[in-house]
Amino acid sequence: MPGFTPGRRWQPRFYPFKRETFGNRALETIEFTIKGPLWGCRMCGNCLLQETAFICPMECPKGLRNGPCGGSTPEYCYVDETRPCIWYKIYERSFRMGTQGKLLEVLPPLDWEKTGGETWKDVVDTIRKNGTGKVFKNVLFNQDGQRATTWNLIFRSVRQPEWWQGDDQYHSPAYSEPVSNLEKHLKAGEFVVACEIAPPLSMSTKKLTENIQLVKPYVTAINFTDNASATPRMTSWACSKFAIENGAEPVLQIAARDRTRASLQGEILGATAMGVRNVLCVTGDSPILAPSPRGRMDINDMDSIQMIWILRRMRDDGHYLDGREIKFPPKFFLGAAASPFASDPKFQALREHKKVNAGAQFFQTNLVYDPDRMEIWLNEIAKRNILDKIFIMIGITPLKSAKMTHYMTQVPGVYIPVAIIHRMDAADAKGGPKAAQEEGVLIALEIIEKIKGKQGIHGLHIMPVGWEEIVPRIVTEGGILPKDFTAPAPKAEKISA
Ligand code: SF4
Repeated sequence: MPGFTPGRRWQPRFYPFKRETFGNRALETIEFTIKGPLWGCRMCGNCLLQETAFICPMECPKGLRNGPCGGSTPEYCYVDETRPCIWYKIYERSFRMGTQGKLLEVLPPLDWEKTGGETWKDVVDTIRKNGTGKVFKNVLFNQDGQRATTWNLIFRSVRQPEWWQGDDQYHSPAYSEPVSNLEKHLKAGEFVVACEIAPPLSMSTKKLTENIQLVKPYVTAINFTDNASATPRMTSWACSKFAIENGAEPVLQIAARDRTRASLQGEILGATAMGVRNVLCVTGDSPILAPSPRGRMDINDMDSIQMIWILRRMRDDGHYLDGREIKFPPKFFLGAAASPFASDPKFQALREHKKVNAGAQFFQTNLVYDPDRMEIWLNEIAKRNILDKIFIMIGITPLKSAKMTHYMTQVPGVYIPVAIIHRMDAADAKGGPKAAQEEGVLIALEIIEKIKGKQGIHGLHIMPVGWEEIVPRIVTEGGILPKDFTAPAPKAEKISA
């Protein structure tokens, strides 16, 4: 196990993409020989150790460089339960050292041209440029109280290349008029409901269209997942197109897991040209949840925070990541996922803060079955003074059976109180599947009652997991019908000849 990284070395080191000089290879060997045993260094060539409490984040199986995913727990990584979540460890140590403020800076994805190469030369060059003697005096003896500034001067250019220029500041959107109905209703202060529809498993869109028509009057927007559980289905943008054609407003979900930085930028231009105006960035479930044979599990090209940062700059600054100008920049309302029950509420709140700084305008949370415990997370967010910069929609799934309830306890980032599990088991034992289903609806309505009107909560995000027929009842009985609700015309009865 590496000396300073409390995980274990698992993934192999990176090698340079192109042939290198003997001198560079020698330097890389020296760097790896020292940093490998100490930090479990993988030679990513884009070192962030100074920001991450000297624990290497490249041990994260997803390669996340901006904080823990929604499946992180204090005990282990959900992708590989034999080791700790390295991001939990980074947060824990940073809070202990009082350096948690550093974790707010939006860090770039890997520059693969540097991957496998050594990083010390860059540091030495920067030190030389700023005067070796002065730098050492400032760092070693804190001359004129300049230690922190000098330290930052040396490492900032290493971790924040010209093409990224990330920071720890909030950037308000560069537009004021809402670009979507979802944004308009949230800004108007209404309690807004969105609903998720699972994309079809085949090319048939009959059920998809029926579901869109069924839920459309009851919700403001419809989310389409992007290969949830890393399992292929119809793409989110294709479903979004069907929603637009059927008069509904889509929320396009994009998972970092299946994207490169090039495909992300290209797809967002295509989707917005097609009429999509809400985009939700997620890191995406690990392929460990997918059926075999599994895809690559050890690295993503970007994480969700980097996606948000790239998309916000495309929209507001009118630039691609490589700096080229976009003549007609895309328009969209930008969202992110939030996870009230993963790792520690304090840690998650920091990560949500970073998402808001990167450009997230609304959150749709993971499932909430314990509104009281959710409040701890909400309070942590409130302490960060960001509640006025973000709209929060709480995720809810009506439980359909006792079996489903037990299954949900295994889903990363989901917490179901024992009392709810007992209620579902008891209903099933007493009245069978129908009674359990009814109990699930009652539980959902009780949760809605508790979160409705709570300060800092702006709406609901229903994830019916294939049970779309329940959405009209939940919204009607929950007393959260849209302001402009018009009851759908009753279906014409078939007249027999
Ligand atoms: S739980 Fe998530 S963030 Fe933590 S190490 Fe595993 S994949 Fe990375």
